[in-house]
Amino acid sequence: STQIQLVSRPSGWPTHDDFRTVQVELADLQPGEVRVRNEFVSVDPYMRGRMNDARSYVAPYALGEQIQGGAIGRVIASASDDVPEGAVVLHQHGWSDLVQADAGTFRVVPEIPGAPLSLRLHIMGMTGLTAYVGLTAIAKMREGDTVFISGAAGAVGTAAGQIAKLLGAGRVVGSAGSAEKVALLTEKYGYDAAFNYKDGDVRAQLAEAAPGGIDVFFDNVGGDHLEAALDAFNDDGRAALCGAISQYNTSEAAPGPDNMANIITRALTLEGFTVGKHLQHAPEFQERMAQWFAAGDIAYDETIVDGIEHTVDAFLDMMRGANTGKMLVRV
Ligand code: NDP
Repeated sequence: STQIQLVSRPSGWPTHDDFRTVQVELADLQPGEVRVRNEFVSVDPYMRGRMNDARSYVAPYALGEQIQGGAIGRVIASASDDVPEGAVVLHQHGWSDLVQADAGTFRVVPEIPGAPLSLRLHIMGMTGLTAYVGLTAIAKMREGDTVFISGAAGAVGTAAGQIAKLLGAGRVVGSAGSAEKVALLTEKYGYDAAFNYKDGDVRAQLAEAAPGGIDVFFDNVGGDHLEAALDAFNDDGRAALCGAISQYNTSEAAPGPDNMANIITRALTLEGFTVGKHLQHAPEFQERMAQWFAAGDIAYDETIVDGIEHTVDAFLDMMRGANTGKMLVRV
């Protein structure tokens, strides 16, 4: 098996020297174990946080061990009655082509008619659920709300824009980092307005895109985007603080928003969340998403990098914005 390990803790942007690719001989299958050939391996922004030795909601990656994370594959050998050969399985073993472990660490999932398995790693999986939970349980979006989504052209962002519309948002505004992404937001994902945050001041661009103010902010970016949202909020506005990717690879502390007092004067609610603590919403999400999907109401994009040996490139490219929709490695 080809595995990718973390060997040193990056400061600022990771480099290839922080990782090592190793060939590992798999042992004979023990009772209760299965062997899986991965088809798609996920690279996700939260993994950057796990490369630091810092307090967080998940433990740091251990040095010299395989990078853990979401992946989907097929069982090629089984010594377990629960997880038969041929089954499609989702798991968290992460960055490798083959994986062998106790059957209990794999979840058998049905194939989705007419759709690739990879969707279970994004729109029908973790990032889709994140968008759904953030809008509903956290930001308590209501029909008619004006919703602003930062990082709108990524995996969570493309899901959030569509779900907001399907749940009856009045106006959905998104920001992303290129003209192509901005065009896609309005043409493919149903956003009413979108802007490129690299074109200039986020405050001014948001004010123009949401002249009536915003009621809900779904934040993937933090920094100047959060500050702009605090300026644009209507009274009783609500934010789901989902990510702060503008700060994941910085080595210096970022300045705080200069307009925090708006939280008081406008009676705003800002709530951070991690999806792993809201899995009780997963069955409801799966049911609704399956219905929306079957009705043809859901679009998605994947940016696919081929070959497990290119996983680190895929991860770094995703952090730089090379992806539209979900960044994936096809094994
Ligand atoms: P994306 O598919 O959105 O990929 C990351 C994107 O971030 C890039 O494509 C890039 O797009 C954008 N980006 C990178 N640097 C910056 C920057 N400095 N300013 C603005 N945008 C930047 O990843 P995900 O959809 O998987 O994740 C999106 C966010 O959601 C992340 O912050 C992640 O940590 C968070 N998240 C949180 C979860 C939770 O439970 N709270 C669960 C899953 C994700 P662009 O070209 O537009 O710059």
